[in-house]
Amino acid sequence: MELLHTLGISLLLLLLGDFIATFIYHVPEHVFGRYHSIVHHSPNRSFVSYAWRKNCPQALLPGFLGALPYLIWVPLLGWMSPLGTVIGLLLAELHVIWRHQFAPGYQTPQSLKVLCRWFYITTPERHQLHHRNANLAFGDVFTFYGKPAQYWLTLLRQLKRQWA
Ligand SMILES: [Zn+2]
Ligand SMILES: [Zn+2]
Repeated sequence: MELLHTLGISLLLLLLGDFIATFIYHVPEHVFGRYHSIVHHSPNRSFVSYAWRKNCPQALLPGFLGALPYLIWVPLLGWMSPLGTVIGLLLAELHVIWRHQFAPGYQTPQSLKVLCRWFYITTPERHQLHHRNANLAFGDVFTFYGKPAQYWLTLLRQLKRQWA
């Protein structure tokens, strides 16, 4: 029971974090922002190295904003389960590393692919699709945020055109 509660909080952190990250940060950043597209969608994805090389400290902000949607839940969820929150953050970070496995020879093992399809988890193959075409495959951790994110992207682009 205790374990279920802990893992439930970890899952909640991933669900809430990815929701805010996708709809409040990632999609609007592709419409109104600049550095996520330039830096994160380039072969060298490091905001720190970009800011350093181009002497452009403001490029650090979107790097930080990408992590913030997960961190804002720490006070609330940490109070409900400190361990569950730590595991959630750890899983989020491990998933960031894993979904950016874009090495030419990399292939997600078939069994893992099946598991990811069952649980709607973004694989590196799917995330690479987003890096190649920023109109596709939103949802950093969960694939079910992809469809609504696409509607949100279209709507924000329309609004931007109207304001321009
Ligand atoms: Zn990415
Ligand atoms: Zn993106």
